[in-house]
Order: sequence, then structure tokens, then C-alpha cells
Amino acid sequence: MHKNTFDVIIIGAGPAGSTCAIALQKSGLRVALIDKETFPRDKICGDAVSSVAKRILRQIDPVLEQSLLEFAPKSNIQQAKLYSPDFTTLEFSFTKVGHCIRRKDFDNWLFTHAINNTNITAIQDVKVNAVSTNSTQAVVELADGRVLTGKVLVGCDGAHSIVAKKLGNIKVDRKHYSGAVRQYYRNVKGLSGKALEVYFLKGFLPGYFWIFPLSDNEANVGFGMLSSVITEKKIDLKKSLHDIIHTIPEINDRFKDAEALEDIKGFGLPLGSKKYTISGERFMLCGDAASLIDPFSGEGIETAMESGKFAAEQIIKCYPNNNFSAKALHAYDERVYKKMWSNFKNHYYLQRILSNRVWLIRLLIKVGNIGWVNRKITKLFY
Ligand SMILES: Cc1cc2nc3c(=O)[nH]c(=O)nc-3n(C[C@H](O)[C@H](O)[C@H](O)COP(=O)(O)OP(=O)(O)OC[C@H]3O[C@@H](n4cnc5c(N)ncnc54)[C@H](O)[C@@H]3O)c2cc1C
Repeated sequence: MHKNTFDVIIIGAGPAGSTCAIALQKSGLRVALIDKETFPRDKICGDAVSSVAKRILRQIDPVLEQSLLEFAPKSNIQQAKLYSPDFTTLEFSFTKVGHCIRRKDFDNWLFTHAINNTNITAIQDVKVNAVSTNSTQAVVELADGRVLTGKVLVGCDGAHSIVAKKLGNIKVDRKHYSGAVRQYYRNVKGLSGKALEVYFLKGFLPGYFWIFPLSDNEANVGFGMLSSVITEKKIDLKKSLHDIIHTIPEINDRFKDAEALEDIKGFGLPLGSKKYTISGERFMLCGDAASLIDPFSGEGIETAMESGKFAAEQIIKCYPNNNFSAKALHAYDERVYKKMWSNFKNHYYLQRILSNRVWLIRLLIKVGNIGWVNRKITKLFY
């Protein structure tokens, strides 16, 4: 086989792409895994990796879950604390432990597992400039002039996916897209080390501010909001985060001795509240490229990993007949939405209902503190 010819070409080696590559490891297929960055690389994120990620890894290979459990540095997340605009708190425990892991570390861990296979060719530090497919092959043009061909292409290239734009014809819909900013801090007062803190703040709704504890007394701090609102109200997210930390007394008190470890950075979140066609002739889209982020929580790591796994399993099914037609690959769309759509739909309603309704947020937080309701909430979250 020619060195630029593959069975599967995966573009993007984040959680979606690396999980897809891992799930293809035992198939014997020749896989190219391409990323424009060199690992370890940062990804702007809240760094909260839910327990679902461990379930997905376990389903692929229990050794992977064990490896993540032994992986450091990370914090073990057992609780969430929600704050209403008057700082009334709702605390609930997760039935399964999740983690906060800097994405630079988590993605590198996953990528290292993905390339630990002789059938994988990892291509880093090279951008994909163009993609196309026809009835016989997928063609990928790299910025360094190389042209790769494959039987099928998997677009795992994130929120600004070239594959989604060129092949999926997906355009940003700001009603189903969020923007968020992040800043790492050290020494935030009162960090529990085991609880995700989410604040609904007066003057900063609809949207939420978060403090997520990392290892070594560090924290991932951020603020996010729906893109249509950002545009409509001309909101500057970086300024909002700065103002929250420096002007709200309850928050400011916790940051008095804290040290910002970086400038504020932002990135987009394509939400799963709108259904798209996420496959076609000889291609599939996974993770952010397929718009699979939870519209309420903003979590997209687990859905990226799950969709990457589903894409790999679809490829293994279609390979014996070399049938990567749009019709054959549509089973992938059906599987993704069968698994994720009801959650996306319900969480979209929650996002809409709570949007700007301070009284309702207060009420829900109060009701959530009633014993049996609290126990029910705990069961809702993994
Ligand atoms: C501020 C913020 C906070 C968030 N917080 C959380 C959270 O706490 N928990 C959670 O679960 N989710 C969170 N998310 C969502 C989460 O970050 C994404 O859903 C997740 O990263 C999706 O993984 P992915 O593999 O699809 O894409 P990515 O992680 O974005 O990976 C895409 C990869 O493709 C590569 N790439 C892109 N274009 C090209 C190209 N042309 N050529 C080659 N390579 C390319 C990139 O370099 C990158 O490595 C947050 C997002 C934001 C913006």
C-alpha cells in the first residue's frame, strides 16, 4: 500500500478523534490520525470529565479505564454546588466520581493511547486545508502539500471543523451555539477540591460562571452564554469574567489572594440542541464537528468520545463490503441521536426555561434542597 493511502483518515485528535482511533485499534485497518497541533496541546475547556468518559473507555477496553484511574494530576469530583442569584446553594452528590483534568493532560493521555499501535500513522503539526469525497475515495490535502486518500474520512476537527463546513454543509446557528471563556487560577479561597461550583449571577444571565477545582490548589474558572444573546446584547465575555471576579463581593472575596495563571481565553461550543445530518458519502462527523455539546451543562467531552467510538464501530461494520455510501453511514446518525437526542432536547428546554428567570432559578434551587427532591437530582446526574 502507498504510504499516503489509508483505510481511515481521522482529522483532529481531541477526545473524538483519539477515541475513534483507539476503538479502531483491534480492527487491523490502516488509520491516519491528523492534528494541526503537536501534543500535548491546550484546549480551552472547563476540564470537567464526567464519569461517562470512564464507561466509554471501559466499553472499549477495561485497561483504559484503569489507566485513567491511575492517571495524575487530576481531582476527583463527587459533588456539584449550584448558586442562585441571591447565593442560596443547592448541593448534590454524583453517584459516580468524575474528574477535573487539564485538557492539555487529558487529551495527551488519550492521544498517547491512540497512537500506541502499529496500524496508526500520527501526523501532527500539519493543518488539513481541503477535503473531498467521491464514490471511490476520500481525499485530504495537507498544508505541507501532501495528499492523503482513504476509504472513509472521520471529521473530529472540533468547533471550527473544515469537514463539517465542506462536506456536511453545517453553518453556525447562534441560537444553538455558545461562547465561553476560561482562566486558570491558583489559590482561590475555599476550594473544596471535590465540587463543581456553578453560579447563576444577577446581571450576568442567561449564562453561568464556574469554578472547577483542579489538582495542586489550582482552579479552572470561566463564564459562558448562548451566542445569540452575546450578539444581541453585545456582551464581552472576557470583560464579564473580569467583572464577576472583581466586582461581586461574594466572589471577589475568594479571589483576593488568588493568582491568575494566564490571560482570559475564549472558544465556541456547538450545541446538540439542533439536529444535523452528520454523515454522507465516505465521511462522518464526531464531537464538536457534529455539534454534540450538552445545551445546558456545556459538556462535550463524553459525547465527543462516544460519537468517536460509534463512528469506529460503523466503519468496522461497513468495511467488509467497502460500502461507505451516505445510505450505509446514515445508521451512524441514527445511533448517535438515539443515544443523545432526548438528553439534548430536555436540557435545551431547561436552558430556555431558566434563561433570565431569576425567580425560577431561585425556586428550583429552594425546591432542590428538599430531601427527596435532592435524592432524585442525585440520581439524574450519573
Ligand atoms: C470554555 C469551554 C468550556 C468547556 N467546558 C467543558 C467541560 O467542563 N466539560 C466538557 O465535557 N466539555 C466542555 N466543553 C466542551 C469540550 O471542550 C468539547 O466538547 C470537546 O473538546 C470536543 O472534543 P472534540 O474532539 O470534538 O474537539 P476538540 O477537542 O476541539 O479537538 C479537535 C482537534 O482537531 C484539531 N483540528 C482542528 N482543525 C483542524 C485542521 N484543519 N487540521 C488538522 N487538525 C485540526 C484541533 O487542533 C484539535 O486538536 C467546553 C468548551 C469550552 C469552549
